[in-house]
Amino acid sequence: MKTVTLRNGVTVPALGMGTWSIGDSASRRSSEIESLRKGLEAGLRVIDTAEMYGNGRSEDLVGEAITDVREDVYLVSKIVPSNASYDGVHKACRRSLKHLGTEWLDLYLLHWHGGTQLEETIRAFEDLKDDGLIRGWGVSNFDVDDMEEIESLSENCLVNQVLYNLEHRGTEFDLLDHDLKSGTVTMAYSPLGQGGELLEHPALKEVASRHETSLGPADPAQIALAWVLRRPNVLAIPKAASEKHVAGNLASLEISLTDADLKTLDGAFPSPKRKLSLAMI
Ligand code: NDP
Repeated sequence: MKTVTLRNGVTVPALGMGTWSIGDSASRRSSEIESLRKGLEAGLRVIDTAEMYGNGRSEDLVGEAITDVREDVYLVSKIVPSNASYDGVHKACRRSLKHLGTEWLDLYLLHWHGGTQLEETIRAFEDLKDDGLIRGWGVSNFDVDDMEEIESLSENCLVNQVLYNLEHRGTEFDLLDHDLKSGTVTMAYSPLGQGGELLEHPALKEVASRHETSLGPADPAQIALAWVLRRPNVLAIPKAASEKHVAGNLASLEISLTDADLKTLDGAFPSPKRKLSLAMI
């Protein structure tokens, strides 16, 4: 399986699992848990959640799904900027750990850049690390100028989690290369365009028609994912709430897009020719 290596030396699969909106519905709960278990069994170690998702409901469900396999999971959660003061970080982290039923997070991300001085948040992250409550930290929704600020304060930021899919290629202008050169892994969120119009696009259908996986003919979701995963230093975290979708996402790892495929996709979704402000959801 394709992997990425974080600057602390930890190597993880380049395909992980997102969990936004998971845990919100009692009727979907068991299939959501089964989907995460299926992904873990197949080697998708990275699970991304956040205190904000369903006010802790996503963390609760993830905790239930991983309770007997915690050591096998690379667990990521995120803190909202309104909790990012020194004391706020300590409280929020302990709350997240409680929801998740675990003693540590592998990675703790600042969800986006808010009003608190980054220096204060970093100090709190480093102290949590010293206390063994987290094993690393990073950021999310940070553009190049934010990353430069972080890098001027610390060499320990492991990950920048940003929106990246065929419909949102703005980061290709500078941010993805900046992160690659500085040794920060880019975690691509919403790689499937949230399962919306992207997956209906004729260009994706055309490229899909040229590929097969072990599951049969490729589909647009697999092409969208293979496209994100084609880049070095990028870890994609699609959210899938059914075993079928998890299996489909795993099979995207079998697809190598050709130059002709990339040309078709570039024609439908052009790469940026100038700096764009960082898109976020
Ligand atoms: P995604 O792009 O991952 O799309 C999820 C949608 O795609 C769901 O509707 C899902 O359906 C569907 N889907 C999944 N697999 C397949 C498949 N193989 N075929 C067809 N459809 C499929 O959107 P998200 O916004 O959820 O992004 C992924 C994760 O990124 C989030 O869950 C979250 O963890 C993180 N994130 C982080 C943000 C940040 O600010 N840092 C912002 C947004 C997301 P179904 O659920 O039925 O399987």
